[in-house]
Amino acid sequence: MNTVNVVGAGIMGLASAWRLAQRGWQVTVFDRREAIREASWAAAGMLAPGGEIDSKTLLSELALRSLAMYPEFVRDLEEETNLTVEYRECGATEVAFDDAAFTALTDKAARQARIGIPSEPCRYSANGSDFPARRYPDDAIVDPLCVNDALLAACRKRGVAIREHETVTEILAGGSGVKTEQGEYPSDRVLIAAGAWSSALLPGLPRSWPVKGHMLYFDMEPGLLNGIVRSEGVYLLQRDAGGVIVGSSMEDAGFDREIAPEIVTDIHRRAAKLLPALSGVKPADCWNGLRPATDVGPVIGRVDDTNTWTAYGHFRNGILLAPVTSAMIAEQFAN
Ligand SMILES: Cc1cc2nc3c(=O)[nH]c(=O)nc-3n(C[C@H](O)[C@H](O)[C@H](O)COP(=O)(O)OP(=O)(O)OC[C@H]3O[C@@H](n4cnc5c(N)ncnc54)[C@H](O)[C@@H]3O)c2cc1C
Repeated sequence: MNTVNVVGAGIMGLASAWRLAQRGWQVTVFDRREAIREASWAAAGMLAPGGEIDSKTLLSELALRSLAMYPEFVRDLEEETNLTVEYRECGATEVAFDDAAFTALTDKAARQARIGIPSEPCRYSANGSDFPARRYPDDAIVDPLCVNDALLAACRKRGVAIREHETVTEILAGGSGVKTEQGEYPSDRVLIAAGAWSSALLPGLPRSWPVKGHMLYFDMEPGLLNGIVRSEGVYLLQRDAGGVIVGSSMEDAGFDREIAPEIVTDIHRRAAKLLPALSGVKPADCWNGLRPATDVGPVIGRVDDTNTWTAYGHFRNGILLAPVTSAMIAEQFAN
């Protein structure tokens, strides 16, 4: 049987491990912490090309393909694990609070229409006022914690070995295995899916670095929000049980993980403009996570003609891009 060592038990490492195990690979996944404790745990779960993309790039193509793959990805995961994955094709509303924002939103919508992201004008009411907005019917939501739990269960069911608290310190020559503090693990192939830490593992890879984002959680009654609502860098969405998730900041702060109260306050203030019910309500929780950024977009594929592959650099869209990335890795491994 062919063997592969995967570095990183985030959504990229686990989704790829699952798809490879389904195709008969014997997979071992290593993580320096517990599985799913970094960006993939921190994410909101928007599947929202409408909020993220307005030009034709590799990212836009992957994002639209992956969005289309999501229903089947969720169905496969649910069938494999008997777990429920909270996924909703609910659309998004993007609100303009002033004329300049409205012009920017209209221009963006025209660019997006040319690359296959539809939207239509609408109105948005908050605090007794009515604002111009656009409705993006195709944007969707998934609960990343459900996806992650299901991926872990699916991996275990397929016999994937998950070695937590074991840091990979070196990729062996040509991708012939990995070295950790506990020993050497030879394998036929290696997949580097270590998020913001990826490029440190192998000289010559496109640089990856962390972009910190704060998230807030409010305990609310269900039914407050129908889909994603966003405006000027702030977004809100509601889980089925009622919890409202609000994000986020974009901070160049290295691997720092401190919660910054002034950033939490600022996000809360801007969110309450969109959903006045949040005014005066204390967040029940807040956290941050480290998005894996690169200069070149997602780095997915084989490293030269070695036996090392990569799947990292998904920045703000890794939850969205998991289906397409894992499918690409599985296809490339088959050839
Ligand atoms: C605040 C926030 C909100 C977000 N919201 C969304 C959203 O709404 N929609 C969306 O699509 N995306 C969103 N994202 C982006 C998404 O979370 C990421 O793109 C995605 O989770 C990246 O997954 P990953 O598996 O590459 O990285 P990670 O989840 O960071 O996983 C990498 C793993 O590698 C491990 N690792 C690192 N180095 C080593 C080593 N040497 N040895 C062993 N293990 C190692 C780490 O411990 C970690 O578990 C958000 C991100 C943040 C931070």
